[in-house]
Amino acid sequence: MIKGMDVQFDKVSAAIHAAAAGRNACLIAASKLQPASAIRDLALMGQRRFGENYVHEALTKQTQLADLDLEWHLIGPLQSNKCREAARHFDWVQSIDRAKLIPILARERPQERPPLNLLIQVNISDESSKSGCAPGLIEELAQLIEVSARLRLRGLMAIPAPWPDPDRRRQDFAQMRRLFEHTREMHPQADTLCMGMSEDFALAIAEGATMVRIGSALFGTRPATSRPA
Ligand SMILES: *Cc1c(COP(=O)(O)O)cnc(C)c1O
Repeated sequence: MIKGMDVQFDKVSAAIHAAAAGRNACLIAASKLQPASAIRDLALMGQRRFGENYVHEALTKQTQLADLDLEWHLIGPLQSNKCREAARHFDWVQSIDRAKLIPILARERPQERPPLNLLIQVNISDESSKSGCAPGLIEELAQLIEVSARLRLRGLMAIPAPWPDPDRRRQDFAQMRRLFEHTREMHPQADTLCMGMSEDFALAIAEGATMVRIGSALFGTRPATSRPA
């Protein structure tokens, strides 16, 4: 086991619980670049939901962990040539940011599996380098998702810029909450607002996140090696 991971898991779980103050906030363990053994250790502590960034890396680990009942979220950017594998091997895709991906995922989702859960990723801080759609595109993507029986619109996701000023971060989270509430008016089945990472998850939950993605606060710093092929 990674040293102290049990202590970290208890700390993070308690902090989520405290920030949620009776509301619901669920934890995605962001396990990119972590070995399958670390995921297994966390699963044995009770964690079921894991977020991976790279499709091929995830597939390798899923094979090694096939004996466990885990829920897999794709949280990294999705290229259209990876949609087939994403639709087959994940339970959720959190990074829908353009229309093109949607019909491919719908076509490739195997009939024997439940509909693929999708979050629309929003570029809330307007940084040219980050992925995510412009807020004005949310409704168009939501409608495209809704017409497919193989897909299920679950809500919105964002990775706000790591503004040093907490007030600036809070503004981005609050703006996401407004967009989420607006989306729910048209699509009441959307129940998930996924935002907040190790540095700012308590703030994100206070501003309305129902799901957070946490990596380094659980696993420690990520291995410095470049990602596996
Ligand atoms: C790595 C990653 C996280 C977790 O980041 P930490 O700062 O380690 O908690 C969350 N979301 C996405 C999309 C990531 O790539």
